Amino acid sequence: MHNAAFRELGWEAWYTPCPVSRGNVGAAVAGLRALGFLGANVTVPHKEAVMPYLDEVDPLARQAGAVNTILCRDGRLSGSNTDVGGFLLSLEEAGFDPAGRGALLIGAGGAARGVALALVQAGAGPVWVAGRDPAKAAALCRDVAGAEPVAWDAAAVAAVAAGVGCLVNCTPVGMHGAAAATPPWEGWHGVFPRGGLAVDLIYNPERTPFLAWAEGQGLGTLGGLGMLVHQAALAWEVWFGRRGPAEIFYRAARTTLSSRGSGRLDAPPEGPLE
Ligand code: NAP
Repeated sequence: MHNAAFRELGWEAWYTPCPVSRGNVGAAVAGLRALGFLGANVTVPHKEAVMPYLDEVDPLARQAGAVNTILCRDGRLSGSNTDVGGFLLSLEEAGFDPAGRGALLIGAGGAARGVALALVQAGAGPVWVAGRDPAKAAALCRDVAGAEPVAWDAAAVAAVAAGVGCLVNCTPVGMHGAAAATPPWEGWHGVFPRGGLAVDLIYNPERTPFLAWAEGQGLGTLGGLGMLVHQAALAWEVWFGRRGPAEIFYRAARTTLSSRGSGRLDAPPEGPLE
């Protein structure tokens, strides 16, 4: 996405994936400084681990417990989080305002944390979190004021379902087309009010098993590509002081996804880098 935009805009800039092992996070960050990089994105599993190596981390990223964007300026490294804002921009683009509506998050990992924070900030409430590991869901809800845990069983989910206007899959179930033996939503037929919105953070495939199920429940659907594109657009604001070109990002991402089939968008590209 970034390189496509640099090319179209005629900028001399370059974005490249750098696989980093868990033991090398500090060295990789020191390398950014040493090599004079303008900035970086950080992805799973290093979004939290990177924090101690930065000179500053902004309050939103601290609250989310995750840095996905680094700016290197005047020898200082600053960490921020554009996943939270990217998720909200994708809802806005879809014409959905979460304010005053209940939300249910499926999953309690890193992405769920950012989504819970985003929804609370946007005025959604209550924001329920159902995770198969109750300790993780409870920890998330302790850290994000306004989020409440829901037990991982159909009866508990059905008990809150009438108040859910936005249902978000924050698990990797359905990623790259892989089917889970029993998807979490399998036991939740007919419990959510029709007309709400189901969001899947997964963007590959664009129509995921969760979204197909949600359509059958009478819910509107939104895939994760918008969040991916808008977190990138917001990262440009951090690096370049202006919002990145979302239309170019969408085009580039869709081209890459269709050419790689069920491959990963974040895998290193084949062939020489330009
Ligand atoms: P994560 O930290 O590993 O968390 C995954 C969560 O899903 C955990 O709560 C995990 O439970 C749960 N889970 C995994 N498999 C499950 C299953 N079979 N049934 C029920 N729950 C299951 O991952 P993450 O970083 O939050 O990412 C989650 C998804 O969001 C991924 O698909 C990722 O690609 C996507 N994502 C998309 C964007 C975007 O820009 N669109 C941004 C970030 C993430 P346990 O803890 O018990 O394993």
